[in-house]
Amino acid sequence: MKEIILIKNGEIALKGLNRSSFEDLLIKNIRWRLKPVGSFVIRKAQSTIYCEPAEEGLDLDDAADRVSRVFGIAAFSRALAVEKEFDAIAAAAPGYLEETLLAASTFKVEAKRSDKRFPMTSPEICRELGGILLERFPHLTVDVNEPDVVVYVEVRERAAYIHAGKIRGAGGIPVGSSGRAALLVSGGIDSPVAGYMMAKRGLELIGIHYVSPPYTSERAQQKVVTLMEKMSRYCGNMKLFVVPFTEIQEQIRDKCPEDLFTIVMRRMMMKIADRIAKNNDCAALITGESVGQVASQTVLALACTDVATQMPVFRPVIGMDKEEIIRIAREIDTFETSILPYEDCCTVFTPKHPRIKPKMHFVEEAEALLDGEALMEKAISGVEVIDIRGR
Ligand code: ATP
Ligand code: MG
Repeated sequence: MKEIILIKNGEIALKGLNRSSFEDLLIKNIRWRLKPVGSFVIRKAQSTIYCEPAEEGLDLDDAADRVSRVFGIAAFSRALAVEKEFDAIAAAAPGYLEETLLAASTFKVEAKRSDKRFPMTSPEICRELGGILLERFPHLTVDVNEPDVVVYVEVRERAAYIHAGKIRGAGGIPVGSSGRAALLVSGGIDSPVAGYMMAKRGLELIGIHYVSPPYTSERAQQKVVTLMEKMSRYCGNMKLFVVPFTEIQEQIRDKCPEDLFTIVMRRMMMKIADRIAKNNDCAALITGESVGQVASQTVLALACTDVATQMPVFRPVIGMDKEEIIRIAREIDTFETSILPYEDCCTVFTPKHPRIKPKMHFVEEAEALLDGEALMEKAISGVEVIDIRGR
């Protein structure tokens, strides 16, 4: 008799012939995520993944918490595995579900038998176990339509499993199943959310962060590391590329028309990101831009930044209100870090009147005033790479 985690995968079930490789990747991700908790035997059978502790005293709360952040899992249950005998089920269920049942006033039992050799039918299991639970918890009544708690008994191939329902998983598809992309990550609220959303669609991430010392501080950079550590609970291991951006910004300040500072800077960010991404097997860039949020995010400004790279640029929060983005930031626990008031290089040398409808040929003219190629090469050769270890 031991407690295990039963996982039902989500969309993966739809992937036809690729299903098996998706499942294998999901299992690999789960295995990796559970490693710090201890040793588990993880196997799949009939679109269910079984995670069984392989040693005594493992922290199942921690394991369930970790599983709840693995993309590719629609729902999971904590269940007690018992021998496939009704007496064993009846003996174990009241104790295992005690806390849940004491907090409820109505319940019902649902039984499923995939092993048809089990001598009782599903309705018989429900009736018998229901009776035993009523006797043991006299405050309960049965409600088959809207019970507070459903007690599930699943008689499967190797054992019978008792649980009190499903817990919602993180959804999405397994990280790595869609390849890799580079997230332009600032210390703000939006880009960590954008990264989380694309990791949910199966992308493994690297982060690219621009710093402009002495205008930006060590603390501001550390904030981005902290944000990525928080993201890593969903996104796994990531590398963070920290790009020195001071010289580029100073040259933009010295040489370009002030109203184009921001747009030229954003294009330089995209161009450098494009190169780092290509060197690191990334097939797309990701930003936290949202239409109309600031001057550099008008449709025309976005059009100018878009053409600075030939890679697809994913902007998953493009149509979201700040409130909606903040809701996700709170959910993934990045919000409190994001609002720490450290400067970002985007707020250095900001023009008083940024052009909100930049014309491409003026932008290109302004850019031609820079030592573009030399600056970019120098910035890239000065990159510091930080390993973000998945938590
Ligand atoms: P965020 O909340 O993500 O900082 P924002 O609303 O503050 O976004 P901007 O500062 O204009 O908007 O930045 C838009 C996007 O540009 C960010 O979401 C991020 O993808 C990228 N970005 C901004 N600053 C940096 C930086 N210092 N390093 C890397 N990427 C950046
Ligand atoms: Mg920002």
